[in-house]
Amino acid sequence: MEAKRDYYEVLGVSREASPDEIKRAYRQAALKYHPDRNKDEDAVAKFKEASEAYEVLSNPEKRNRYDRYGHAGLNGAAVHDFSGMGVEDIFSIFGDIFGDVFGGGGYRQGRGYAERGVDIQTVITIDLKDVATGIEKSLRFERSDFCDACGGKGAEPGSSPQTCRTCGGYGQVERQTSMGLFVTRQVVDCPACHGRGVMIAHPCRKCHGSGRSSKECIINVKIPPGIHDGQRIRVRGEGEPGRSGMARGDLHCIVQVRPHEFFERDGDHLVCRLPISFTQAALGAQIEVPTLTGSAPLKIPPGTQHGTLFRLHGKGLPNLRSGRRGDEIVQVVVEIPKKLSREQRELLRKFASTEDKRVLPESKGFFERMKEYLTGNGGGEGE
Ligand SMILES: [Zn+2]
Ligand SMILES: [Zn+2]
Repeated sequence: MEAKRDYYEVLGVSREASPDEIKRAYRQAALKYHPDRNKDEDAVAKFKEASEAYEVLSNPEKRNRYDRYGHAGLNGAAVHDFSGMGVEDIFSIFGDIFGDVFGGGGYRQGRGYAERGVDIQTVITIDLKDVATGIEKSLRFERSDFCDACGGKGAEPGSSPQTCRTCGGYGQVERQTSMGLFVTRQVVDCPACHGRGVMIAHPCRKCHGSGRSSKECIINVKIPPGIHDGQRIRVRGEGEPGRSGMARGDLHCIVQVRPHEFFERDGDHLVCRLPISFTQAALGAQIEVPTLTGSAPLKIPPGTQHGTLFRLHGKGLPNLRSGRRGDEIVQVVVEIPKKLSREQRELLRKFASTEDKRVLPESKGFFERMKEYLTGNGGGEGE
């Protein structure tokens, strides 16, 4: 496999580029390499490369990780695998930024496609434990749908719409404009029926002739294990109905993962900060730590230092692609008591008086080095 190119280089922007500059650069790249416009062999690969760069650089968190750790910093982060996607799928991910390029409403592939129904977007909130198992969620949302009263025809029940005489029912007409010697022909929506192909003499009272009304829908959405916060799931054909019998748009569900009481997510790993007392750290202890499904025993060996990491293999989250589980990483936070009873203070004083430097190997090293440092400096100043 070839080494990955730098994302900034791919988009041709500086490392300090603003979000707007990045967006502009991606839009330009996407237009340049779009397979409809560019027949070069590597255009699709270039297009995907730019899309991947844009996905990372347009997201502040991912951009930060990339800036700090490079490509390696994104392992386990939610970056789409564009290599397996079609160009159209990629457009549906970033569709909103192409609005003004392709004329509103996203990418259009020739005529007809433009009349596909509008995509809708909704949010699904799940718990971290649902990320581990995957979940099927029943989703309730509103969408503009065919009117029940007129079945979407827009005409009052009992009356029927008449075929539009201006366009003969096609919904579109050819417009000729002449400028001197040149005549341009253009196909536009029929001005008489607004592209519907029919004229409605008696509009439906419920929808006022639009043929649409807002409806509540309930559908089940399957969320795969390992999904990341902010990722979208596309449910094809659950958007608004298209015009004149064209396909429905899609429903995009943006997944939000609720923060967990004990765990922070780091890619497929879960990080848990575990408070222990300094006596537990010094003498060792057997502790129950929380896991996503309950708890697990953890042995704290004597002499454990603050910040020490313990790894519970396979107790993390499954990887969205490989299904392989990450680990739970327990970070020890040693707590020093703020209040001591008289007895405890006595015991600690007694302990301190027995304290040999050898029981604190790290601090011994530190203070010895500091002594050398001070004498070294002192000597230097004298000369
Ligand atoms: Zn109606
Ligand atoms: Zn017409």
